[in-house]
Amino acid sequence: MSGGPTVGAILTLNAGSSSLKLAIFDLVASGALLPWRRGELRQDGAAQRFRLRDADGVTIVNEVWSEARFDASLGHLLARIDGELAGRRLIGIGHRVVHGGAGHRMPEEVTPELLALLGELAELAPLHVPHNLAPIREIALARPDMRQVVCFDTAFHRTIPTVATRFALPREFESRGIRRYGFHGLSYEYVARRLAVLSPRLYAGRVIAAHLGNGASLCALKGGESIDTTMGFTALDGLVMGTRCGALDPGALLHLMRWEGLSVDEAERLLYTRSGLLGLSGISNDMRVLLESGEPAAAEAVDVFIHRIVREAGALASILGGLDGLVFTAGIGENAPEIRARVCERLGWLGLRLDETANADGAEIISAPDSAVEVRVIATDEEAMIAEHVRDLPAA
Ligand code: AMP
Repeated sequence: MSGGPTVGAILTLNAGSSSLKLAIFDLVASGALLPWRRGELRQDGAAQRFRLRDADGVTIVNEVWSEARFDASLGHLLARIDGELAGRRLIGIGHRVVHGGAGHRMPEEVTPELLALLGELAELAPLHVPHNLAPIREIALARPDMRQVVCFDTAFHRTIPTVATRFALPREFESRGIRRYGFHGLSYEYVARRLAVLSPRLYAGRVIAAHLGNGASLCALKGGESIDTTMGFTALDGLVMGTRCGALDPGALLHLMRWEGLSVDEAERLLYTRSGLLGLSGISNDMRVLLESGEPAAAEAVDVFIHRIVREAGALASILGGLDGLVFTAGIGENAPEIRARVCERLGWLGLRLDETANADGAEIISAPDSAVEVRVIATDEEAMIAEHVRDLPAA
């Protein structure tokens, strides 16, 4: 094994409402983290499907578990992971927690006190935080000696200046935590670290990172730090997403509640699960399906998706005072050349020129040599970022 003998293994868990992503990394003596296993547990009809891939991406486990509820499978999952370790010593488990609020701006080691405090964060992200916390609690009970580290998706945005975090609401709301936070932080942090290695010039400069997946946002990076982003108090703001609406005039919501009798729960379902690409197209939340569809509504959903990216990218370029680099990442950003081409074409006014062949081929750098803005594609790896935090956080 490169980098010397294995010191131990680090497990990462990223638990959502209907799926849990996991990865196991080997920590070797040089400090490098080598991916060993990646997988997920996903709701599949009335059961759960557990898949595991080896370091080469080859599927080595594909099982259906009978538990109807995904959180009921956690005990089973932990036992299964133990079996997969093949003699490795697990030295820590890292978790993604979507919202850290104003008080949690760095990765932290889990203690009983912290767990109690984190429960309060559920109020800020009720659809996500309880799911994030479930495996942490389960492990804390079953294995109280196991080191657990929580990594907040909001934390990377701690560098955003106050002026960009404020809503223009009366002051007292800010002190109650009603402000902009930003999300996809683990993804942006990973992209920034990769950029530092791949292009120190861009890392030091003004960059927009575009995380375009089922969730989607943009982040303005200056000197590798976040200075603004399109998501706000929740992961609902900003771009059009798979099923989330993105930026919405709050007056439209008031109207729906007042005149159409929408309850809070109905409004939540509407904005989080029935809107975005799915709502606009009436066909699918999946960009691949929309790009292949001949339906006008599918084409219009893609048009709106692009329009909003271009609009927000212009705003962030303005906040950055110009643009040196644009980085595409996540499912759509990494795999959809047509979307990248359409965004880049509309950003031509910034002096951005795409190399169409490099874009179609999925090259690392997809801008033309004479482009004023270097455009890159970087595959994100939130799991690797979590494992790095587990490795780097000094033991409590
Ligand atoms: P993520 O949330 O990062 O897994 O990204 C999921 C999104 O990426 C879905 O909308 C997929 O349709 C989209 N996606 C994945 N592969 C492709 C592809 N080859 N072309 C277009 N969209 C893709």
